[in-house]
Amino acid sequence: MTTDFNATKAMFDLPAGLIYLDGNSLGPLPKAAAARVARTVSEEWGGLLIRGWNKAGWMDAPARIGDRIAGLIGAEPGSVVMGDTLSIKVYQALASALEMTPKRRVILSDTGNFPSDLYMAEGLCRTLGQGYALKTVAPEDVADAIDDTVAVTMLTEVDYRTGRRHDMAALTALAHARGAVTVWDLAHSAGAFPVHLAAAKADFAIGCTYKYLNSGPGGPAFIYVAPRHHERTRPALSGWLGHEAPFAFDLDYRPGTGIERMRVGTPPILQLAALDAALDIWQGVDLDDLRAVSLALQDRFIAAVEAACPMLRLATPRGHASRGSQVSFRHVEGYAIMQALIAEGVIGDFRAPDILRFGFTPLYIGEAEVDRAAAILARIMASGSWDRPEYKTRTKVT
Ligand SMILES: *Cc1c(COP(=O)(O)O)cnc(C)c1O
Repeated sequence: MTTDFNATKAMFDLPAGLIYLDGNSLGPLPKAAAARVARTVSEEWGGLLIRGWNKAGWMDAPARIGDRIAGLIGAEPGSVVMGDTLSIKVYQALASALEMTPKRRVILSDTGNFPSDLYMAEGLCRTLGQGYALKTVAPEDVADAIDDTVAVTMLTEVDYRTGRRHDMAALTALAHARGAVTVWDLAHSAGAFPVHLAAAKADFAIGCTYKYLNSGPGGPAFIYVAPRHHERTRPALSGWLGHEAPFAFDLDYRPGTGIERMRVGTPPILQLAALDAALDIWQGVDLDDLRAVSLALQDRFIAAVEAACPMLRLATPRGHASRGSQVSFRHVEGYAIMQALIAEGVIGDFRAPDILRFGFTPLYIGEAEVDRAAAILARIMASGSWDRPEYKTRTKVT
């Protein structure tokens, strides 16, 4: 192991005494991000004003930072660009993918997918009309459901609730063999374990950066298009910054070169500055080390919780290849149990109807945190301290 996870832990600004197991939903603040954003605000925005677009490299930031993300997801240089939010990027990738398979009408997804992805697909089908439809099957039935009606498979590699992981390489090969194009959502993959987009021959991929990549709330999404498709990909959201020459101000749209065409409008420079600083953390990190430690931490947590809390049922697959970087347990009172845990300084989250989620990110979580979190959970379950009215009132964000 070459990665020094004590060094990466020191790069985060985490409140003392808190055990943060929710980096799968919102990564914590990298110390360097606060300083970088402050500098971007005062020196670049404040000092350079509009000159920042050229002098501070704002205009090139989406592709430059996209290349940094590419290095973390096994993508070719020049194949990833930043911008918008993940939901928007889902729409964009899907629309482009559908145009590549014009004779087919079905978008295939699974019932474990994140609702926003499904909603975006539904909305796109309604806009397109002409018989386009979204079909969802159980995650384990996806392979069998890829038939010759399927235009695009739209799959999130890791299930946000259970942590179950699809086999990206195998499903991509199967989709291609059956004439379909693939869209992979890497929301719970990028920064969670090694991803090999190019090796898997994925067509399109998208993901967010505020989860395992720690860009902060509202951080921009990314989109990947395989280089072999660049010149025939028509961007459905044809904004001026995806134009071949935005500052020619032509009246007609012409797609930009390569991945640049997937840009839409003005990039979020302050959020990109936070992301850029957050990505520095990965410089000394070997993703295989990250994966090995993540799995060891997950196994340690599962063993401790199963030994002490028989009333909690593991929702995450046990096989290492079949899971991402989170562990989930089921309990009908999951919401109240999670509130009790949070009150004791262990932050995970709850997903309806009954899932307690815990994200494991070796960048700042070690064995000591895992042991303490499991012990606190065991105490809450044994004492029944979760069973109080104040833990049962649902807040807007769970
Ligand atoms: C987190 C997440 C989203 C959120 O999309 P936003 O547009 O960033 O709010 C979408 N899809 C998946 C699979 C996610 O995990």
